[in-house]
Amino acid sequence: MTDDSAENWMALPRQVDGISLNAGIGLGRAVLHPSYGMKTPPDEGSVRRDSRKDELIRIDDALVQMVEEIQTLISQQANSLLSKTQPTSQAESLDILKIYLLLANDPGWRGQLRQKVQEGASAVDAVDQTLESIQKKLGEKGALSVWQERMSDFQDLSSRLKRYLINSVARPRGEDGDSPIIVVADRIGPAELLDYDRERLAGLVLVEQSHTSHVAIVGRSLEIPIVGGMKSILTEVAPGDSILVDGNEGRVYIRPVTEVVRRFDVKPSLRKKSSLAPSLEALAPLSSQTLDGVSISLLLNAGLVEDVDYIEAAGAEGVGLYRTEIPFMMRSKLPNVAEQTKLYREILKRARDYPVVFRTLDVGGDKVLPYLERLRSESPMMEQRANRVFFDRPILLRYQLRALIRACGGCELTIMLPMIAEANEVQAAREILDGEVERERARGNLIPTKIRLGAMVEVPSLVFQLPQLFSHVDFLSVGSNDLFQFFYAIDREYPKLSNRYDVLSPTFLSLLKSIQDQCQLAQIPLSVCGEMAGRPLEALALIGLGYRTLSMSAAAVPTIKNLVRNLTYQEISDYMSVVVPSHRSIRQSLRHFARDHGIYRD
Ligand code: PEP
Ligand code: MG
Repeated sequence: MTDDSAENWMALPRQVDGISLNAGIGLGRAVLHPSYGMKTPPDEGSVRRDSRKDELIRIDDALVQMVEEIQTLISQQANSLLSKTQPTSQAESLDILKIYLLLANDPGWRGQLRQKVQEGASAVDAVDQTLESIQKKLGEKGALSVWQERMSDFQDLSSRLKRYLINSVARPRGEDGDSPIIVVADRIGPAELLDYDRERLAGLVLVEQSHTSHVAIVGRSLEIPIVGGMKSILTEVAPGDSILVDGNEGRVYIRPVTEVVRRFDVKPSLRKKSSLAPSLEALAPLSSQTLDGVSISLLLNAGLVEDVDYIEAAGAEGVGLYRTEIPFMMRSKLPNVAEQTKLYREILKRARDYPVVFRTLDVGGDKVLPYLERLRSESPMMEQRANRVFFDRPILLRYQLRALIRACGGCELTIMLPMIAEANEVQAAREILDGEVERERARGNLIPTKIRLGAMVEVPSLVFQLPQLFSHVDFLSVGSNDLFQFFYAIDREYPKLSNRYDVLSPTFLSLLKSIQDQCQLAQIPLSVCGEMAGRPLEALALIGLGYRTLSMSAAAVPTIKNLVRNLTYQEISDYMSVVVPSHRSIRQSLRHFARDHGIYRD
């Protein structure tokens, strides 16, 4: 290709397919987000100073400014969360910023920065060298996304810190003016995304493609369309190019022709919303019942105390999964029994009379506790996780159960155990629970009026032990995120394989059906609390298989309630009973079924 033809090619309209990371349509001018390796403009501050003491002061000052800036982002996010009448995924995004703040205060990182300066590096060089050694260390840990995520968090923090060091604290705004912008990035941290003017941010196009990356989660909380997996995007887009992001189809139109723009009818008011999100206020008080009168119970998944406030606004019937590890992840040391009791009391107070299912600590895996270094491992998903940690260190479970019993004195307590692989593990946990109840009773403390103990079905081996398990549990909940990853032997955080297997494959569905059939026969209450419960087609399939309780993020409840209210149970049940086992996935056919029956259109 000659230079001329290359230039011409860069001016032509293009359509590039990727992966949808958030629905919605966005149109705006491209802003190429600078990647970390890009040279920062030289200025007086980037030149090495004679005195190491001065450099240390520079580093310390920059760290103080940076932490203040992150704290401001956190309070902005928290305020906007409070001002919402509707639940959003902003709570999750707030979690991420809090973890980010923990990293910014990480003594290890700060120590390394100072050490590099002591060894003779300038403040700016110290940031680069420290990042390099973190990258090397995390790189050695393997390709798991939990480490990649940490890596991009440190990249984000490093570029932020450098901005202060070279006195270039201006926030990126995109091009001048107030027209909408589409941010195109190779790598971008969650806080960096929040630096862009939120009013102008109309979409995000990423080279990376993980649904669970921090930037994707924060992007979803901003309700912008996101398309990932766009490997060559940086060579195809020039700054200022017009870009249309179709987050519904996972497609990006570069320099789109007028007809394409017209087809999408991108009105500013629609730009940031998934066109399907039904009005929450209208649906919240309505019952979650199918057209032929079958009730489907919709519950919330929560991880922050604030999430619990949304039960009523979302129109849910309680909390089906409270991930107790989230508050643990945001602290610099293990909370003691008194601190945990206070937290659980607060959750119950906010839930008022609605039921809450407390899941015991599911640490390890992608949920790393900074103070439990020993849990870090090469294979975090399958080594020391959840109850396996407890069997090594039962005191962790003992303290958590003690706190839950104390917080719930005089009321009903529901506890759920994650990552159970064998029925006898529940029995062991129940013995610890009984011991703690006796301990409290002997001390004259108020104990719960009733305790229900359940387990999550997340490890395939458990499906083959359900008859033995039934005598130990009061209920079960399918953790489809983990069940799916262990069923297909596919790391749930590993994006490259995320499109190869489908939760709507007849094979996985037959596993789910077997769980449902066995529970129904034994009259053991059953729910699903993995991500699939909050996705329309997946929820439809689950209902067709006989699942009557679904637990999901608050933001998903209205869409699922709307779907339930538009469907006839008998029809979907009949449809699911004739699933063809030889097909790879029923997704497409279920989509047609949903459209043809006026249930749901995506
Ligand atoms: C699951 O595995 O489906 C689940 C709900 O648990 P988590 O996503 O917290 O592992
Ligand atoms: Mg799980």
